[in-house]
Amino acid sequence: MEYPGNLFVVAAPSGAGKSSLVKALLELDSKLAVSISHTSRAPRGQEQHGREYWFITPDEFRAMAGRGDFFEWAEVHGNLYGTSRSAIEARMAAGEDVVLEIDFQGALQIKQLFPYAVLIFILPPSWEELQQRLNRRGDTAPEVIAQRMANARVEVAQAQSFDYVVVNAVFETALFDLKAIVHAQRLKYVTQRRNRSAVFRALDLP
Ligand code: 5GP
Repeated sequence: MEYPGNLFVVAAPSGAGKSSLVKALLELDSKLAVSISHTSRAPRGQEQHGREYWFITPDEFRAMAGRGDFFEWAEVHGNLYGTSRSAIEARMAAGEDVVLEIDFQGALQIKQLFPYAVLIFILPPSWEELQQRLNRRGDTAPEVIAQRMANARVEVAQAQSFDYVVVNAVFETALFDLKAIVHAQRLKYVTQRRNRSAVFRALDLP
């Protein structure tokens, strides 16, 4: 499938800082829109239906999956998550840049559907630092943290299938790296030809 907009997919193990980085990136870049996923998990804390996620029941989720409403979906930490077609199709068709903040299984499915999607993996600087960040969150039971660390080993092993890797040791540096990836993507020939068509025409560029 070909769309005029760029599609960025960001994955990371829990605790690597993905959500904070994507949030900061979106605040800096008004031309980027994040896709709101559907999930079968219950809202946490201040989360709102239609803001962080579309919260639905497992039965509703399976019905949507059965109808083919998702570009991709996966089970992550025992809950179902999916990117609905309606969440991104219109934006991408309008030429807008879209960010998907999803797990590695979803990211690899998206790459199959959209080979031009830009896959970005966020790594923690070390296992020790990841463990400390998960401990510092304070809202998670020790057995949940142990499970996340075990999952993280599986997830991190997938980084080699991604186009870019950002190591989140220093937040500002990682954010700068993310911005650089988005910026470079917008400077690709095909994107420039679309966005700077007058220049290309004037220079007789195909
Ligand atoms: P959380 O429940 O902590 O918000 O998210 C758990 C994991 O599910 C995170 O890695 C998050 O990126 C991932 N996730 C969120 N939405 C989607 C989605 O639509 N598809 C897939 N495959 N993973 C998702």
